[in-house]
Formats: sequence, C-alpha cells, structure tokens
Amino acid sequence: MPDFAIGVDLGGTNLRVAVVEEQGTLLEKVTISTKLLRTPERLVSAMCENIEELAGRFRPSGRLHGIGVGIPGIIDLHTGVLRESPNLPGWHDYPIREEIERRLGARVILENDANVAAMGEFWLGAGRGFDSMFMFTLGTGIGGGIILDGAIWHGMTGMAGEPGHMTFDPDGPPCACGNNGCLEQFAGANGVLRMAREAINAGRAPELARTERENGGLTPKLVYQLSTQGDEVARGIYRTASKALGTAIAAMINALNLPSFVVGGGVAGAWEAFSPYIYEEVRRRSFVYRATAPPEGKLMPPGRTHITHALLGADSGLYGAARLPMLPEELEAHEAKSTVQTNSK
Ligand SMILES: [Zn+2]
Repeated sequence: MPDFAIGVDLGGTNLRVAVVEEQGTLLEKVTISTKLLRTPERLVSAMCENIEELAGRFRPSGRLHGIGVGIPGIIDLHTGVLRESPNLPGWHDYPIREEIERRLGARVILENDANVAAMGEFWLGAGRGFDSMFMFTLGTGIGGGIILDGAIWHGMTGMAGEPGHMTFDPDGPPCACGNNGCLEQFAGANGVLRMAREAINAGRAPELARTERENGGLTPKLVYQLSTQGDEVARGIYRTASKALGTAIAAMINALNLPSFVVGGGVAGAWEAFSPYIYEEVRRRSFVYRATAPPEGKLMPPGRTHITHALLGADSGLYGAARLPMLPEELEAHEAKSTVQTNSK
C-alpha cells in the first residue's frame, strides 16, 4: 500500500472525510451530517475522531502525508484562523488549524473550498495534463480557483479567484457584496432562482408559477427540467445564465491566457444543453480565445484554450484537499507579496 493523505470537505450540511492514496485512488469516505454538531468544538471533535479512526486503519500499510481541509469562507492562511463562513454561522475567528493539529498531532493544511475543488480537478479531473487552470464552481453562489504552474494562486491575502462578483450588468440587481449586477445574480443557483422569481412576479412565467405551487417552492433543477420540456421562460433563464458565464470566462481568458478553464458545480449538469451558448459568448467576447480555440475534433493540442465541465462532481474538493499535503513545498501555494519593494540604490 502506498502513502496516503486525508482530505476533509467541511460543507454547510455535511462533513466528509476521505483517505486518498498518492496515485489518486479514494480508499474510503465517511459522510457525517453537521446538523447536530452546532458548535465549532463539537464539529472539530467529530472531524478529528473520524480522521483518527481512518488514519489508524491505513497507517500500518503506508505513511500519512497530512490532512488537507477545504472550508467555505474566509481563512487567514498564515494563522490558520477561520475568520467567517456563510455556511457555518457562529464560526468567528476560530483557530481551526491549531485545534485540529493539537488533537491529532499531524500536519494540517487549510484551504478555501473552491480552491480545493480546483486542485482536485487539476490533479485527477478536467484539468489533468495541463500546467495551469482556472475553475468556476457553480453552487449557491459562484466561486473560483486559480492554479498556476501546479500551485494554487492565493493573491495577497488569500482572496484571489472570486469570479462570482465580476460585473455582468453594471445597472443590474444589487448583490450582497455591495456591487450591482454581479455574475452571481445571473448564474449559479441564486442567480437562476432570482431570475425565475422576477419572471413569476412580473406575471410572465405561468409554467414556473405552476411548478412552484405544485412543488411547494422552486429549485434550479425544477427550472432546468422546465427548460428541457421547452418552456421558453425557463430556457431564457438558462440562456441568460450561459451568457453571463460565457462573458465571465471570456474576461478570465483575456486576463490570464491559461490553457484550461473548467466549470464545476450543480449547474454544470446542464452543460450539454447550454454549453453552445457559453462557447458562442466566449468566442464573441474574447479575441484571445478566437486566436487559441482548439481545432475541431482535436482534444488537447498544446497552446490552445480548453473550456470544459468538471469531471469529479462533488468529490473534487475531497481529492483536492487530500492532494495538498502530498505536494512538494514549492507547490504548496503562490502568493502575491504584499510588501513594497523599495529601491535601495
Ligand atoms: Zn457581488
């Protein structure tokens, strides 16, 4: 048995812990509901108990590289403190890395949940074989992760890769971030539901209104199902979402000129039906893409821009989190230096 690492995905409803060996095989996975574990202490205890149990079982056959933890929210990467998390209310300035390390005596690497998803796809999924990648994660909102030359790009304070708050419509609806018309208002679960609500309230979506009544509410999946049944309003919502996403991808291609752009998350399930609209928008808005689009039928020629959907589904974050402690030190992360270089001539 080869050496292994433990990947943890700390979500709003589930805590998942997995043992992954160096070649990328997932050996075992445990899912725990976080519903009854309301305090950070209880959740970290449950997490550590499960990590210990799994690590103890696999240790006789291989070395434990360490533990990688993907967390939604703002993390201070230097101190290992979780500043705040929209999915984990009550977690303010919690020293999560110290707590886990103290209980387990093992090396722990914390990372933003979108960044671990990107690392998972880069290692074993849609980004495999490329040296750099950008990933959009479509969930409730829209997150992102940048991998440059094999390492996560953190920016100056760990906040790099927030495509959800790029402006799509300057005069669009207000966003919780303070901006107007963010990408998140037009794509991702919140964006799809916001547009559906607007259409129902305006009285121009009888089918959506009926679906909502019959199901006691709306989900992006219900809107998508209506669109596949030919409902024009639902189709229009997904077309707008595709256009918004295509516009954002075009902007990132122009800014970064990377070889691989990956779209992951729940809404990526609609890829087959709506990717033609995404490609159309990217082609129209990015001359960098037009100059580097792969020729028809050729999968991965070098020097081309590849746009694809994610391949690992909900497990991408688990794989990516487990990958972090396996990486050599120079690939642990890229950071922009916040110090000013003074010219000492
Ligand atoms: Zn915003």
